[in-house]
Amino acid sequence: MPVRATKRGVDRTPLDRDVDVLICGASFAGLAVARELAGSGREVLLVDRYDIGERQTSACAAPTEWLTNLDLGPAVLQTFDKLVIHTPGRSFTWRLPWTFSTFDYRMVCELLFEQGGADFDTAKVDGRTGSTVHTDRGDLRSPLVVDALGWRRVLGTGTVQPPEAFLSRGLEVHPEGRGDDLELWLDPKYVPRGYSWSFPADHEVRVGVGSFDPRHHVKDPTVQLARDEGVEPIGFQGNWIPHKLRKGTEDVVFFTGDSAGHCLPVTAEGIRTALHFGLTLGRELRSVVDGRQTREQALARYAQFNDAHAHTFLWMKRVQNLVGRINPTPLMPLAAKAFESDRLTRWAFEHYLAIAPPTAALAPPAPARTRPLAVA
Ligand SMILES: Cc1cc2nc3c(=O)[nH]c(=O)nc-3n(C[C@H](O)[C@H](O)[C@H](O)COP(=O)(O)OP(=O)(O)OC[C@H]3O[C@@H](n4cnc5c(N)ncnc54)[C@H](O)[C@@H]3O)c2cc1C
Repeated sequence: MPVRATKRGVDRTPLDRDVDVLICGASFAGLAVARELAGSGREVLLVDRYDIGERQTSACAAPTEWLTNLDLGPAVLQTFDKLVIHTPGRSFTWRLPWTFSTFDYRMVCELLFEQGGADFDTAKVDGRTGSTVHTDRGDLRSPLVVDALGWRRVLGTGTVQPPEAFLSRGLEVHPEGRGDDLELWLDPKYVPRGYSWSFPADHEVRVGVGSFDPRHHVKDPTVQLARDEGVEPIGFQGNWIPHKLRKGTEDVVFFTGDSAGHCLPVTAEGIRTALHFGLTLGRELRSVVDGRQTREQALARYAQFNDAHAHTFLWMKRVQNLVGRINPTPLMPLAAKAFESDRLTRWAFEHYLAIAPPTAALAPPAPARTRPLAVA
C-alpha cells in the first residue's frame, strides 16, 4: 500500500528529501503522472497543499469511457447520453454519440492515488531554484520535477496573472438536489461571453457559470441561476481556467494539466485532458527511470507532444471567440438548433472526443527497466 503522510498543524514537520520523481499537485494531472510510475521501484513523491481529494476543483463531469478505462467506474454518480441546451426562449436536446458522467472527486483521486503507489505529503509549493522545489515545509530535490499545480503554474517563470492572462473564470454551487439532465445555458442573461450549467450528481447538483472574459464576475449570475433552478446557492467553489495552451516544459520542469493550459477552450473541459497529458508525461518519465531514455529526451519528446496540440487548441479558442460573439445575438438559438441533427452532433462530438481519446488510457504498461535512472 502507498505511504500516506498528510501533516497538519504541529505535525507539519520540516521536509528535506531527495526523490527520483517529484510531482507537485495531486489532482487529475499529478495523479495521472504518478499512476504510470507504479511498480517502477523508484521513489516517487506527490505533494499537495491539501489531502488527496480534499478540495474538489470542478463540476466533475467527464466522458464515461475515460473513467471506466482508468478503472474509476465505482466513482461514477450519474451518466447522461444527452445535453439539454437552453437559449433565450427556447431549449434544445443534443443526443450525444457517447456519454458523460458526473463523479465523486474524492473517490476518483483516491482510486488514482492507489493505482500509483507513490508517497504523498502535504506541503505548499512556493517556487523552485533549478530542480530544487521550495515548499512551506522545506526543500525537495529531484532530477524529474512535475508541475501539476493548476493554472498558477507555480514552478514556471513569467506567468501572467488575471485579468491580463488568457484565463476564463468559473464558479459553481453544490446544493443537495436531484436532476435527470446535463443542462447548459447559452444565455446572456447569466453571462454574455460564456455559458452556465447544471450537472446533477446523484444527491447534489453542481450549478455554475463560466465566463470567457476574466473581468466578468460570475458570483451574482451563479446565485441567480441557482435560484432560478430552485436550489440553494451554497457550497461555492470556483477557479480560474486557462484557455490557451502553454509550454509543456521549462528548463528542467515538466508541466501538465491546467499548469500547461490543457483545459479545452469553449467547453472548459479540463479533466480528461489533464488525465491524457498526465498519463503521457508519466509514460515519458517511466522511460527515464527505467533507463530507456534520458531526462533531456523526455523533455524534448513531451514538449513535442504538447506542441502538436497547438493547432487544435487554437481552433477551439476560435470557436470560443465565436460563441462569445454570437451568444448575445438571435443567432445562438439557430446554432443550438442545428445541433439537434444527430449527424452533426455525432460528427462534432466524435471529433471533440478525439482530442483526448479514452483509448489513451489503455496503453500497455511500460517494458521492464534495463538501465539505472538516467538524467541528462
Ligand atoms: C467551476 C469549475 C467547474 C469545472 N467543471 C469541469 C467539469 O465538469 N469537467 C471538466 O472536464 N473540467 C471542469 N473544469 C476544469 C477542471 O476543473 C480543470 O481543468 C482540472 O481540474 C485541471 O486539473 P489539474 O490536475 O491540472 O489541476 P487542479 O485540479 O486545479 O489541481 C491542482 C492541484 O494543485 C494543488 N495546488 C495548487 N497550488 C498549490 C501550491 N502552491 N502548493 C501545493 N499544492 C498546490 C491543488 O490543491 C490541486 O490539488 C471546471 C473548472 C471550474 C473552475
